[in-house]
Amino acid sequence: MTQKKQILVVEDNEFNRAMLSEILSHEYQVLEAENGQVALDILQQHKNSISLILLDVVMPVMDGYTFLDKVKVDDELALIPVIVMTQGDSEEDEVTALSHGATDFVPKPYRPRIILHRMANLIRLRETAALVNQFQYDRLTGLYSKEFFYRKVRERLDENPDQEYTIVCMNIENFKLYNDSFGREAGDRLLRESAASMMSWLGEDGICGRYSADRFMCLMEKNQEKSDREFFFSEVHSERSQNVDNVVVKWGVYEIIDRSVPVEQMCDRVLLAADSIKGQYNQFYAVYDDNLRGKLLREKAIADVMETALAEEQFIVYLQPKYSLSDNRMVGAEALVRWIHPEWGFMSPGEFIPLFEKNGFIPCLDRYVWEKVCVYLRDWQEKGYPVMPVSVNVSRADVYQSHLVDTLSEMVQKYGIDPSCLHLEITESAYTDNPDQIISTVEELHRRGFVIEMDDFGSGYSSLNMLSQMTLDILKLDMKFIQNELAKPAAQSILNDIISMAHRMSFRVVAEGVETKEQTERLQAVGCDYVQGYYFARPMPVKEFEALF
Ligand code: C2E
Ligand code: MG
Ligand code: MG
Repeated sequence: MTQKKQILVVEDNEFNRAMLSEILSHEYQVLEAENGQVALDILQQHKNSISLILLDVVMPVMDGYTFLDKVKVDDELALIPVIVMTQGDSEEDEVTALSHGATDFVPKPYRPRIILHRMANLIRLRETAALVNQFQYDRLTGLYSKEFFYRKVRERLDENPDQEYTIVCMNIENFKLYNDSFGREAGDRLLRESAASMMSWLGEDGICGRYSADRFMCLMEKNQEKSDREFFFSEVHSERSQNVDNVVVKWGVYEIIDRSVPVEQMCDRVLLAADSIKGQYNQFYAVYDDNLRGKLLREKAIADVMETALAEEQFIVYLQPKYSLSDNRMVGAEALVRWIHPEWGFMSPGEFIPLFEKNGFIPCLDRYVWEKVCVYLRDWQEKGYPVMPVSVNVSRADVYQSHLVDTLSEMVQKYGIDPSCLHLEITESAYTDNPDQIISTVEELHRRGFVIEMDDFGSGYSSLNMLSQMTLDILKLDMKFIQNELAKPAAQSILNDIISMAHRMSFRVVAEGVETKEQTERLQAVGCDYVQGYYFARPMPVKEFEALF
């Protein structure tokens, strides 16, 4: 059985009160007050549960109209419907009651059935309105709810066919982190503040909605003042950053050109724009345009087929030889993957690796590449070729996987390969990411006999200081770094120092991307151990590589 709704009867005449209670108590739980003051006290205690007030006018201590005036200035109490019970049913009585904010009135003497019907109607009306309200507004921020935002935007567009509009999405990028570090309350406060400042930038007739936890949408008129986006966002940012530290806000922008696009879809697009710069330092907003659209469609198309491609062995492992500078002999190779797609043709890793790193597929592909390399190594072993170590690329996502060490160990075991034949290239930026985890994983891999190469050294921010803490065998100098250094007069280059220092720490040094004879000679002069680059050989299919033995 559902609980009875609570109502409040305010009436000084005891007999009338008892009679009303009697009539009403079949359907309602009745609270009674003998004057306005008592009624106010009861309301304060039960304001969330009282569905309706029946109010007499003439009462001692505080009369009905004084009571009503007090109730109507309280935002919460004002929502409770009030039926005033007047002495007569003159127009005068009715107008006075309604002008004080009564929802309805009934004349005395009481006619129970009429009272009950009017009460039921008013209660239902108010509950429906509350429901609508809840549906239309976000409770925390007071912005429109997502659904209602869609509706409001559509209305505004239809009503103003000549005005140009932009949908802007604001995304607090590190909100979860903020919530976790400062607590829920602080998180809520941040959201409320963000919503409020967004409303104030937009002004009176801005339409703002809360799309999801930390994402807000708004519809902006495209006008002179705000059309200079660079300015708008930098202003917004300087204002923000003064208030809250460590909050990263990203904006997506969608200019409405085709109004027939459903608003939901416009919002999806503006979100895609905002998400496209996730994690990009110094990039605060992105505009949804054909370029972005094309890029996202391409990424999606790739993501749709990547698993099939792996299962169908469309990924081919190429090998690029490495040479020793002291005697020009081939000393190993790097495995570099290519994707030969049946329709799209040849794709270089620059096109898909960054995407796989983003969408989480990279560990699957890397595993596949490592296993292929193991197969080659065993094959060469069986054919009696000289020992030729091959290095594979290990992504930072791989290092985060707790079973990386076991995966690699089991793999070399399965193929009967000495782990020292499998070199692991770990990119420099992974080291700066999460040094503790990297250091311990790399140490363990090293202990198990794998040879560790730090890839792309010189491209990022790793300090020389850090090198001394790492377990490393080989330092692989980044191609761009080498090219920059070799472009300087020898006396100004730090290449010499880096290589000497690496040798002092007993690391060997590989130079990558060597393209000319001059570069080779310079590298030789500064004591670099190995080289890899187009000047010597390009990455090639395994069959071609085997011909080099
Ligand atoms: P990386 O590991 O630094 O590989 C070296 C890149 O330099 C390769 O590009 C190679 O082809 C290119 N290269 C070598 N010598 C020269 C040269 O003389 N001149 C020029 N201009 N380039 C040269 P590639 O094959 O396009 O690979 C690009 C990147 O993709 C790699 O950089 C690596 O980070 C990633 N990658 C490739 N294969 C894999 C893989 O199987 N797994 C993972 N996780 N990443 C891979
Ligand atoms: Mg590499
Ligand atoms: Mg490299």
